[in-house]
Amino acid sequence: MRCRAATAQSAVTRLILLGTAGGPRPQKARAASAQVIVSKNVAYVIDCGDGVARQLTLAGVPLTTLRHVFITHHHSDHNADYGNLIWLAWTTGLSTRVDTWGPPPIEKMTKLFFEMNTYDIDTRISNEGRVPLAPLVHVHEIRGGGVVMSDDNVKVTSALVDHPPVVPAFAYRFDARDRSIVISGDTAPSDNLVKLARGADVSNVSTRRRSNRRGRRRQNARALSPCARRRSAGHRSDVD
Ligand SMILES: [Zn+2]
Repeated sequence: MRCRAATAQSAVTRLILLGTAGGPRPQKARAASAQVIVSKNVAYVIDCGDGVARQLTLAGVPLTTLRHVFITHHHSDHNADYGNLIWLAWTTGLSTRVDTWGPPPIEKMTKLFFEMNTYDIDTRISNEGRVPLAPLVHVHEIRGGGVVMSDDNVKVTSALVDHPPVVPAFAYRFDARDRSIVISGDTAPSDNLVKLARGADVSNVSTRRRSNRRGRRRQNARALSPCARRRSAGHRSDVD
């Protein structure tokens, strides 16, 4: 089978791993969980571990191109900088709509984040002439698997994965015209993930180290396409 991923240089759609560390504790050499898919200069960020805005900057992805944010689950190594990413992108000049997607209570988290930072936001609106931030952000809570959204660049589909006690936890599949990319989030062996990732070109699978790590990783990888298996690069950790 010929991997479409092999033509990466000519591909329009790119996956950049911004962080692959496991667990919320900051590490010297690895950044926390985050990745971005860039398609036609539109940034789709999946998970927002600590430092995601800086990691995007280091990767050369302008924060002003942020359009969608997807959260796989509410562990802090995946969402610690969820609000910060949007806030800092706005301070950098973002003035266009951002849609965010994830499990409950992402709506409440977003509302409280803006409330917590009202002082700075209001100051920048009055002193720097920035547009109001909250109206730019449209939050969508996801409770089950299925089509999440689609636009001119990608169709995004979610699947429930197994990450107790965090329920729900999601994997996301991005189908672009030139490739399909699957982001697993954290998960134990999951039939839903296997089904979601079937035929994908690239996958980023994260598993927990505790108890039978290799078996879990193999089981999830087994049903992915040969291309996807070669690209698996998520974290394996003792903590979530
Ligand atoms: Zn987790």
